[in-house]
Amino acid sequence: MAPAVWDTSCYQDVIDIFKLYSLGVYTFSSLSNLMNTRIVKNYKTKRFHFMKQEIKRILNYPFYIGLLKPKHGKLTPGKHKPLISMELWNKCQEIQKCKSNHSINKRLIEHPDFPLRRFTLCGVCHHPLTAGWSKSHTGKHYAYYYCVNKSCKKYAKMLSLGDLHEEFIAYLCKTKPKEKYLPLFKEIFIDRYNQRQKDFKGDYIKQIDELDRLKKEKITAAEKGAKGIIPDLTLKELLSDYEKKILMLQQSLDNTNNKELDIDSLLDEGLEAIRTINKEWSDALPEKKPRVQRLIYPEGVSYHFKGFSNPKLAPAFAVPNQFVLCLTRNVDSRGFEPLTL
Ligand SMILES: [Zn+2]
Repeated sequence: MAPAVWDTSCYQDVIDIFKLYSLGVYTFSSLSNLMNTRIVKNYKTKRFHFMKQEIKRILNYPFYIGLLKPKHGKLTPGKHKPLISMELWNKCQEIQKCKSNHSINKRLIEHPDFPLRRFTLCGVCHHPLTAGWSKSHTGKHYAYYYCVNKSCKKYAKMLSLGDLHEEFIAYLCKTKPKEKYLPLFKEIFIDRYNQRQKDFKGDYIKQIDELDRLKKEKITAAEKGAKGIIPDLTLKELLSDYEKKILMLQQSLDNTNNKELDIDSLLDEGLEAIRTINKEWSDALPEKKPRVQRLIYPEGVSYHFKGFSNPKLAPAFAVPNQFVLCLTRNVDSRGFEPLTL
């Protein structure tokens, strides 16, 4: 039998199915939803639809670990190269087993659907919000966030997932620095950077002079040694001392010399990421969202049943915002919203 060559137009998606499932947070059906957001085609350009059953079939198809299963008979090793490692396969098998006897926490399974769970505190009682699915009388399922604290006056107030996510995206837009101040922020930042570079270059020249001086002194010492003015032993120590100093200085100069940064484009890149952060979050895969939101609000957010706030903003957002704050205090307070509500 010829060794199997994996279809390059879709094999990565099969690997992803195993990898995502192995996180233990997906059901066949939530993974099927996620995979269907991708347009996956095989080499014949036929599109795949990852139905729930198909996900289950893929996760249990031994061909991917290099085994063949005749219709009636035992598994035998094939001659093809496995696509999935035994370790990943076993992990997925284990998770399927746990899920079927409900030994995995149901909350954990649902987690990718609710990126704001635990990250968001109830603004009234400061308990983390939790989330879940609820079934309406028509049998339709709805996703909600809610405060789980029985003594809170907002206890069990259902916040629809769609609404809360939308409000969160609006809050992201509000958190990011105002567009109209960014060019000025950039200008001042670069100005300060250039000033620092100038000081830095001053230091650099001083170091070059110092290197020169050490080299000259070393030569003088060697000459004195040759004339017998300095005893041999002292000369040896002296020279090795000079060599060490010269080497260290030379290394430090070599390092700094390589650190010429294209600050302008780096800054543009950074500001662009900040500008589009709300889109970044809404486009992120469900399991990636928590990481994106932590980048902005490292300590989470609070929800006040209309509006969010945060105890701490990441420096990339806080610095331009503080800059705007200084600027608006002196110039113009219109068009600026407070950092926290
Ligand atoms: Zn509460």
